[in-house]
Amino acid sequence: MILVKTAKEVEAMKPACQISAEALRLGGEAVKPGVTTAQIDKIIYDYIVSQGARPNFKGLGGFPGSACISVNDVVIHGIPSHGIVLHEGDIVSIDTGAAVHGWNGDNAATFACGAVAENAQHIMDVTKEALARGIAAAQPGNRVGDIGAAVQQYVEANGLSVVRTFVGHGVGRKLHEDPEVPNFGTAGHGPRLVAGMVIAIEPMVNEGTHVVKEQPDGWTIKTADGKLSAHFEHTIAITPKGPVILTQV
Ligand code: MG
Repeated sequence: MILVKTAKEVEAMKPACQISAEALRLGGEAVKPGVTTAQIDKIIYDYIVSQGARPNFKGLGGFPGSACISVNDVVIHGIPSHGIVLHEGDIVSIDTGAAVHGWNGDNAATFACGAVAENAQHIMDVTKEALARGIAAAQPGNRVGDIGAAVQQYVEANGLSVVRTFVGHGVGRKLHEDPEVPNFGTAGHGPRLVAGMVIAIEPMVNEGTHVVKEQPDGWTIKTADGKLSAHFEHTIAITPKGPVILTQV
């Protein structure tokens, strides 16, 4: 069931979204050669807790980290680890979320570790722009399929693929609510978007095949072909005037 929020409830979600956004910014700032993903996770944890909020990924389904940190061919759900050291040229997807006053925020971005190759820059640029196009399609009166179609068309026109197995989602009192928001689809199809819906749009874009593979740890999702993947996400509110990004720092 899609829970439509009042304007007051959308307002109440802003602190959680702002804390998520600042945690992501700080995590991204820490991406440097020689740093471990566990160190980045600690920065994110410390910031979220310092704001009186809770890292809402921690413990969700048993996930051990405060953030998902996914390097290169890891699509999503990378477990922060002291054993994962970043190197010059890596691309690092960080997904953070915070809960405060019973509301959730959720966002993600892919960061370059030092200087990166042209193909790595390309996938980051395309994924970021695909998110912008998905958000632009999230107009009241449109449908969920308009978002997916906007993302998919832009990504595929740029020679990349969209992950099918994982999708965006509603956000509210729960981190994951209805509706599902796929990064692919057909314009004019799916649930109607109405003012008061709050959704996370999160294109996961692969360089090669869209097929992904869960690793033996039960969390880490990698591209099936070992090529790169990028991930950008915002929590947005659909308002009578159009989409508003809640996770903007
Ligand atoms: Mg999400």
